[in-house]
Amino acid sequence: MENFTHLYWETLRQQFDRETFNAFIKPTALEIKDDTLFLSPPNKATERWLRKNIEEVVRDVIKTCFGRDFPIDYHTGSNGVLPEDTSPPPYQPRVKNDSNLPVKYSFANFIPGRANEIPLLAAKAIARGESAPNPLFIYGSTGLGKTHLIQAIGNEYIKNFAGRRVRYITARTFLNEVVQAFRLNRQEDFKRRYQNLDLLIVDDIQYIGGDKVRTQEEFFFLFNTLYEDNKSIVISCDRAPLQIKDLPRRLTTRFCAGLPTHITPPEFELRMEIVRQKAAVRGLALEEDAVYFIAEHAKANVRELEGAINRIHAMAQFQQTKASLALCRNAIADLIGMANILINPDLIKEKVARFYYLRTAELSSQKRHRSVVIPRHVAVYLCRQMTTLSLPDIGRHFGKRNHTTVLHSCRYVEERIKNDSAFWEEVKTIETSVKE
Ligand code: ADP
Ligand code: MG
Repeated sequence: MENFTHLYWETLRQQFDRETFNAFIKPTALEIKDDTLFLSPPNKATERWLRKNIEEVVRDVIKTCFGRDFPIDYHTGSNGVLPEDTSPPPYQPRVKNDSNLPVKYSFANFIPGRANEIPLLAAKAIARGESAPNPLFIYGSTGLGKTHLIQAIGNEYIKNFAGRRVRYITARTFLNEVVQAFRLNRQEDFKRRYQNLDLLIVDDIQYIGGDKVRTQEEFFFLFNTLYEDNKSIVISCDRAPLQIKDLPRRLTTRFCAGLPTHITPPEFELRMEIVRQKAAVRGLALEEDAVYFIAEHAKANVRELEGAINRIHAMAQFQQTKASLALCRNAIADLIGMANILINPDLIKEKVARFYYLRTAELSSQKRHRSVVIPRHVAVYLCRQMTTLSLPDIGRHFGKRNHTTVLHSCRYVEERIKNDSAFWEEVKTIETSVKE
């Protein structure tokens, strides 16, 4: 929670100017209870403003800290006094420059791997002022390190080139700026922010897709001005340029000009390394088998890995024990459950049945013929391997068999794959088809 409140204030301060922050965010206390974040704005108007302007950002913070989502709810008008520990710490000037960049992400804490090799090379080249793709367009799905990488570019660039102008912005904020500029007739302010930039970094550009013509026009104009002036542009996106919804062709073309580069989900070795380093930073001692276990099960993205480590860390502290393999297993049981949510006994039965030319129902039937019994063993074995169901639960999916029968099937398969390589192949083939 402490971690969370810190990041909460920090992030919101970065996103909004001081007046806005003081008017809407500062008077709003927060509390996490029953897996919900409760915000207590003093009145309805503030609530409306918060709902509209901060929820998305706050969800990101929640995800970063807890590795998962939970809902945001409001206790409006109820906060007489702000609890001491949930009110914002005193204002400190954050950065000396006007880059708008948080300083948390650097190359030093970005872990290299095959999944990010090419984007990382290009990123470093830009930060050093060497020749690099322009624009550098980095895409990949959520939680893979795009924001981290592009902010690292900015931070390093500022270090290397004192006096040059950098601006980091999310496409969402850009859109808000455009809207504000037109609504309040502040085009001059807007222009000033983007004048004479040496490096522009735009996060989550997919957000300007769709029916946002004015923003698209402004961005196109800005892009061209910088581009023709040989200034660097870095863009991140959750998908490839052509897949951005309703983006004018002329923008897509610009985005593709520097050759888009892809961050992919981390491979096993990278996941291992991330687990090791992130645990070390937190002072969490992990046995090698625990590292292996986490890397094996939290595979979707880096945010999920971090969430797993945070949870294990919290649980180990809470129970004041070492983070053993058993503890890790417990701590992230539901994460694993999530990843395997699509792998269930029905799917396994379907794949096994298809492989052996049986009907699915036969696997749960009482038939004792060898042509059914062995596939049934295989299906049971795969349920044991590929789901987190208990033995009795698995038994229930196979015509009310009890747990000793389930165990017998598992043993049969385990023993036979040791000596019968053709059988081993069969089982592996089916396992692969389940995962597809
Ligand atoms: P994205 O912007 O692609 O959704 P983020 O940059 O927000 O992803 O990354 C999610 C989390 O994972 C962040 O806390 C980030 O620091 C971490 N992360 C991602 N990739 C790496 C990496 N290669 N090394 C270290 N941390 C990483
Ligand atoms: Mg991001």
